[in-house]
Amino acid sequence: MQELFDNIPEGPLADKWTKFKADAKLVNPSNRRNIDVIVVGTGLAGGAAAASLGEMGFNVKSFCFQDSPRRAHSIAAQGGINAAKNYQNDGDSTYRLFYDTVKGGDYRSREANVYRLAEVSTNIIDQCVAQGVPFAREYGGLLDNRSFGGVQVQRTFYAKGQTGQQLLIGAYQALSRQINKGTVTMYNRHEMMEVVKIDGKARGIIARNLITGEVERHAAHAVVIASGGYGNVYFLSTNAMGSNVTASWKSYKSGAHFANSCFVQIHPTCIPVTGDHQSKLTLMSESLRNDGRIWVPKKKEDAQAIANGTKTALDIAEDDRDYYLERRYPAFGNLVPRDVASRASKERCDAGYGVNKTGQAVFLDFSAAINRLGKDAVEARYGNLFQMYEKITAENPYVMPMKIYPAIHYTMGGVWVDYNLQTAVPGLFAAGEANFSDHGANRLGASALMQGLADGYFVLPYTISNYLADDITTGEISTDHSAFEQSEKNVKERLDFFMNNKGSKTVDHFHKRLGKVMWEKCGMSRSKEGLEEALAEIKAIREEFWKEVKVPGVQNSLNQELEKAGRVADFIELGELMCHDALSREESCGGHFREEHQTPEGEALRNDKDYSYVSAWKYKGENQTPELVKEHLKFENIELKQRSYK
Ligand SMILES: Cc1cc2nc3c(=O)[nH]c(=O)nc-3n(C[C@H](O)[C@H](O)[C@H](O)COP(=O)(O)OP(=O)(O)OC[C@H]3O[C@@H](n4cnc5c(N)ncnc54)[C@H](O)[C@@H]3O)c2cc1C
Repeated sequence: MQELFDNIPEGPLADKWTKFKADAKLVNPSNRRNIDVIVVGTGLAGGAAAASLGEMGFNVKSFCFQDSPRRAHSIAAQGGINAAKNYQNDGDSTYRLFYDTVKGGDYRSREANVYRLAEVSTNIIDQCVAQGVPFAREYGGLLDNRSFGGVQVQRTFYAKGQTGQQLLIGAYQALSRQINKGTVTMYNRHEMMEVVKIDGKARGIIARNLITGEVERHAAHAVVIASGGYGNVYFLSTNAMGSNVTASWKSYKSGAHFANSCFVQIHPTCIPVTGDHQSKLTLMSESLRNDGRIWVPKKKEDAQAIANGTKTALDIAEDDRDYYLERRYPAFGNLVPRDVASRASKERCDAGYGVNKTGQAVFLDFSAAINRLGKDAVEARYGNLFQMYEKITAENPYVMPMKIYPAIHYTMGGVWVDYNLQTAVPGLFAAGEANFSDHGANRLGASALMQGLADGYFVLPYTISNYLADDITTGEISTDHSAFEQSEKNVKERLDFFMNNKGSKTVDHFHKRLGKVMWEKCGMSRSKEGLEEALAEIKAIREEFWKEVKVPGVQNSLNQELEKAGRVADFIELGELMCHDALSREESCGGHFREEHQTPEGEALRNDKDYSYVSAWKYKGENQTPELVKEHLKFENIELKQRSYK
């Protein structure tokens, strides 16, 4: 029997969301101001949710750990945001966006959620244009579009290479308006440490004021987790340094399920790792694959000569270049989805064709585009990305092809939610990258921003109202309840432990070790043997962490080592869950590539008969193996096929 209810409305796919909205219970405006909602996170998902709920008149408390909501990781998003506007008249539609997303996710997402996402995508663009987001325009003034991977239409709206920044400023403006009106109270520099449950429902959080160190109780009738993804479990990733799993992990430990944690996205176009000194990796936006061509030399001796500095890319004749994506996938070429492009780079580099000292780099070359369009046109499209590349690598990409390699970038897994974006804990919702919902085993480019804003602006306002309609007579939730006392005690005990442990190793020491195990054994390819080794190694890291971790400084003031300690403790536990998840999924799909399950050409080999489900893991207590709960996926509108981009 299915333990998790997806709560998908009845009826034809295209009518479900309309039907939900028509049937949803409402909260009358005069009751809204007596209802409190906590939103953890001020990225695109949380910022949009808090602003929308505030505009509706709910009493919102918004939390972020940065000094301003505007510094959420969403600000880093570069390439663009999808919407099925069909401005290019190239065959796009709601159905096409839905189809591409389900196929791109290797048929491991829920049809109804994805269809709703495609449906509201067009509203997002209207909303953002109304806010003044400066999307790129064509000469005549119409909004411009470009292509992203895994699709054959141009549906990506963008603002140079700074789309996330511009969208977040839009959301922040909307949020600031509500802060000014008094419907949203902003708690900057606050970290949520626990979810508080009363009678089985989420009724608040414990947060730490990161400036004073004070541990605070905050009550509400509903809590939204919009705390972003967990890519930093790998230590090196393209995510912001502060991105972490803590809010999602505490939700899991309080009874929410954690779904598909092994579905992580490895982005093919990042600046390659150069050594152990690095603490972060840099993305070169997927938009660059619109005009950049990816290649390695056809001859190993040329690759070696480039790696040891006796040749450069410019010395390799056209006939001696292997444009391997165009060769293997002629229909999509350089715009195959990320999982496919990443694996193809790894395959070439593993075979000895890598073009830098580590052997882990391929070229992304703009010479053809510069010859075709001129340097100015290329600069107008990607200027800031080229500048960023040059600052980091000291090479001019207008002259010398960029060197790139795949890196951890995004997490499709996350807190399990139903159609209403509600977790298994009543009153606890999850939105944006923090939830698992829409992208299956692989996310298509430019669809994370779309999902975050869809969740925040257009989905949660309806589904939360529907939930809160039953709470209008509950009255204020008191923070004197024993559940708050207990959660606060747990938080304080953990903080005291970190401050008083007389260990000898830094938090980063453990984080780097964890990241290495995760990258090597639960990264771009996985095997039963490797995952079992990883589980044993992470357990050893976890045990040593609790004995040997050293946190300098004091508790009652800003202490970033203390913040990191709590986050890394959660990452270590998450790493174990990810390996369990990867081990249990005996198939390859999307970003999850099990070496045992591949086609003769090295493509991912799904097993729809046995694994067409969401793996939602349930916390069973300290040192206990989590329990796997399956949400079986039903495909009624799309035929499951072997994915092909040839
Ligand atoms: C370099 C880069 C480029 C990208 N480019 C694109 C792109 O072009 N198009 C696209 O669609 N996607 C892109 N993505 C993905 C996309 O940016 C993210 O998936 C998306 O922005 C996540 O938004 P979010 O609102 O879910 O979370 P975030 O923006 O990560 O926000 C998380 C929020 O939660 C808060 N928070 C976290 N934990 C706590 C806690 N315990 N207590 C209190 N607050 C907490 C943080 O302070 C922050 O406000 C890119 C990602 C990267 C790394």
